[in-house]
Amino acid sequence: MKGEYKKLREKDKKASDILVNELKRQQSTLGLIASENFVSTNVLRATGSVFTNKYSEGYPAKRYYGGNKYVDEIEILAQERAKELFGAEHVNVQPYSGSPANLEVYFAVLNHGDKVLGMNLAHGGHLTHGHPINFSGKTYKFIQYGVDKKTHLIDYDEIRKLAKKEKPKLILSGATAYPREIDFKIFHEIAEEIGAISMVDMSHIAGLIAAKVHPSPFPFTDIITTTTHKTLRGPRGAMILCKEKFAKDIDRAVFPGMQGGPHNHTTAGMTVAFGEALKPEFKEYAKQIVKNCKTLAEELTNRGMNLVSGGTDNHLILADLTSLNISGKEAESLLEEVGIIVNKNMVPYDKRSPFDPSGIRIGTAGLTTRGMKESEMKLLAELMMKTLKNKDSKDYKLKVKQEVKQLCEDFPIYNDL
Ligand SMILES: *Cc1c(COP(=O)(O)O)cnc(C)c1O
Repeated sequence: MKGEYKKLREKDKKASDILVNELKRQQSTLGLIASENFVSTNVLRATGSVFTNKYSEGYPAKRYYGGNKYVDEIEILAQERAKELFGAEHVNVQPYSGSPANLEVYFAVLNHGDKVLGMNLAHGGHLTHGHPINFSGKTYKFIQYGVDKKTHLIDYDEIRKLAKKEKPKLILSGATAYPREIDFKIFHEIAEEIGAISMVDMSHIAGLIAAKVHPSPFPFTDIITTTTHKTLRGPRGAMILCKEKFAKDIDRAVFPGMQGGPHNHTTAGMTVAFGEALKPEFKEYAKQIVKNCKTLAEELTNRGMNLVSGGTDNHLILADLTSLNISGKEAESLLEEVGIIVNKNMVPYDKRSPFDPSGIRIGTAGLTTRGMKESEMKLLAELMMKTLKNKDSKDYKLKVKQEVKQLCEDFPIYNDL
């Protein structure tokens, strides 16, 4: 691919400069956004391929346009690999992203006003899990559960009680900012007890589940959604996996229910990414994500950072900065000044606002892709705490910036671009 950006530059300098600047930004900063990752050059190739040119409304062998021989082949290969990766009965790889995938599931199995149990955004859920300003919360009657005030853990007994009282038609689990293991088995049992459909949104931890470093929601869960661009390390997209008995309804809800032509270039990128995830190396990668996260959590705790639930089981850490006397927003911008990229985040029972919450969320999937291990996590913890504790010292900032730059050079990405 070397030289591709140069060709763009000859024709469109403005766009090319922005593109190259973003590449350099990703190369020269430490990306710790828990929902992000760095795809392989081969996934980039497939995602940037000629499949972007093709219209293919419908499904393999049932299309509304001609010329879909190879689109069919790539979509079938993506489906086969996804099913193998998770042990699923049926998959739809066409959802444009995680949010539409969730809405498509609701559209497939619910009626307007039906009751659903989902996790509160402020406790780690997602907007599409019934937030009042989201289509999900406006269209269906979401009852929201949170985490325990003391332990910051999901309280399964509370959820069982809530389920028995409210009798929702669907019970949804999965989160965007929950640092602990989720017991999908209990969620499914609760759903069975009241005759509800069980749904899991495994977007954040799909890569960990594929590599068997987090317990799987398969094969018992009825319907599972996931983005493909987080720990799974594929292109920006999503899929819905389900038991055979929901297959027809799910497929109809995706097309023609909510979407038009599938993004075949994304499907091609997914196919390549799933191929990578099926290799033994990916298992090692996922194990290392968790090891790195546990090490980073320990090192931050040792230096005085207060972690929600006291630690982590997965790829992410949620830190409550109240005791450091700094807000999430302030921490996010201080860290960005030295090249460490995190996002401000609400913590459970937060007293501050979503625009300037008490916490930050930190993820290790991206840095693990860059090849970093435990010793780098130790250094990273030191750099982060130095930055947050010496916020008014220009000297410190300069020194930390230098060390961040060095780390990025020692663990390069996209050198072939
Ligand atoms: C990221 C995420 C989504 C949304 O995905 P988008 O691709 O941003 O629409 C939905 N649910 C969960 C749990 C997520 O983590």
